[in-house]
Amino acid sequence: MPEPRIDLHAHTRVSDGSDTPTELINQAKHAGLDVIALTDHDTTAGWEEAQSAAQAAGVGFVPGIELSAQILDNSPESPPLSVHVLGYLVDADNPSLVDEMATIREHRNDRLRLMVERLGEDIDINFDEVAARIAPGATPGRPHIADVLVRKGIVTDVSQAFEHYLAGDGPYHVPHYAPKLSRALDVIRQAGGVPVLAHPLSGGRRYALDGSDNLEDLTSHLATLAEMGLAGVEVYHRENARHLVAMLEEATNRAGLLRTGSSDYHGTKKPNRLGENLTTRREFDKILEQATGSPAWLPENFFA
Ligand code: AMP
Ligand code: ZN
Ligand code: FE
Ligand code: FE
Repeated sequence: MPEPRIDLHAHTRVSDGSDTPTELINQAKHAGLDVIALTDHDTTAGWEEAQSAAQAAGVGFVPGIELSAQILDNSPESPPLSVHVLGYLVDADNPSLVDEMATIREHRNDRLRLMVERLGEDIDINFDEVAARIAPGATPGRPHIADVLVRKGIVTDVSQAFEHYLAGDGPYHVPHYAPKLSRALDVIRQAGGVPVLAHPLSGGRRYALDGSDNLEDLTSHLATLAEMGLAGVEVYHRENARHLVAMLEEATNRAGLLRTGSSDYHGTKKPNRLGENLTTRREFDKILEQATGSPAWLPENFFA
């Protein structure tokens, strides 16, 4: 196969996307992808359906997760800062991983209820309306509230919902429990998976790389994360600040980290389109080499 089209970050309604796992695979096929990774937030519940659909459609399938994590600042008063870690090819039955994901989901649930209660003091919304929009067992997230705000005409679209009502630094926001970044990296490695830092240069998350904006600082920060177990960085993602991407390429190179590119597709919940950023086969092979948790499913023509 000539350079394949590999997209390593996508969500379904098993977390906060809008497609079923089967619909995601069909969309991936339609978008001409050769390989798609399913990376729902803090759950592996969509894997089985997605893999069956992938085999039927002949689309390569990489089981994954997007694990919520946090960075704690030195000052005890400052709130925890949220970071996302993609974990490819983890063993879905690893007890530490299973426990960690269950705890995060439970806290996400309580936190969503609290946020809706706070919102309900100022606008017409209640938790039953939101719960009705969450698929049974799905990982709840702010996009589920956004969905209701849009449906009720309180905002015109999801982006507007995140500008005020759902903003991380807004008046209604409630944080949720997540393991520290070091723990998240450990848990993914222990489960035989390959951890990749998701969208580290997105506007609100620059702290994921310690706010480093010069090559030396960025390289040394990434080297520290590599020592903690990080395998790679999602360098090509629509939310990464464009003017820093070249520096991130060089810094990941120097720190010995692999580089991925992905869409972070959420169906109708976000404008991100499948295949808008891709991962090269060379970098994908590095992920396959490091993984010992779960196998990827790849069609025969992938190796032709
Ligand atoms: P949560 O996990 O509940 O904290 O919500 C974060 C999720 O909301 C992420 O998966 C993002 O994809 C989504 N999100 C964050 N900011 C925005 C935005 N401005 N527009 C649309 N979706 C967003
Ligand atoms: Zn999401
Ligand atoms: Fe994310
Ligand atoms: Fe994501």
